[in-house]
Amino acid sequence: MTSLASPPIFGAMESSLEILRALHFAADKHRKQRRKGADRDPYINHPIAVAEVLAREAGVRSAKLLQAAVLHDTIEDTETTPEELERHFGRRVRRLVEEVTDDKKLPSAERKRLQIEHAPKLSKQARRIKLADKICNLRDLAHTPPKGWNLERRIRYLEWSRQVVAGCRGASPKLERLFDRTLRVARAAIDRESGGGHEVPAAARGTLRRRRPA
Ligand code: ZN
Repeated sequence: MTSLASPPIFGAMESSLEILRALHFAADKHRKQRRKGADRDPYINHPIAVAEVLAREAGVRSAKLLQAAVLHDTIEDTETTPEELERHFGRRVRRLVEEVTDDKKLPSAERKRLQIEHAPKLSKQARRIKLADKICNLRDLAHTPPKGWNLERRIRYLEWSRQVVAGCRGASPKLERLFDRTLRVARAAIDRESGGGHEVPAAARGTLRRRRPA
């Protein structure tokens, strides 16, 4: 009995060590960065939250996918190279992180447009990371929006996230439901805040109502 139980326990421990190794690497790479939100949280809180959504809320158990989630912003936002990721974590993790990395040389509007265009072409695993990433970003936006982001800018961000996620559908019904719920909560928060509606243009308020997911 004992010998039969040993291998899975050993496997779980190995996975935990692999994920801890990725966390250590990402924490070091992001050590000087802060999130855009008004609280200016340490940046590493974000990749941790993304991996946690996958593991806890979507039941993901693949150590490689969780490593990639922890590392998903290292190429885009730090000096990390794809080769470095491959050396430390293998080819699969490198490819996954590359799939969810924007080309920072392009202007922001173009990067945003390309995210919408590329989402349907990503692998299923990469789309799962994208979904968890967008869920976390919307939660942050609802709770601690970046300083200086007025309601209109926040509404535009929600709408853009919705369009990116539209291209990710089919990768994980659980994450998609979670995203829809998060989007509803974020919209409701903005609706409440707009109150008299002076800051939100009439057209955008209409968008909020029309596009509420069923
Ligand atoms: Zn991210």
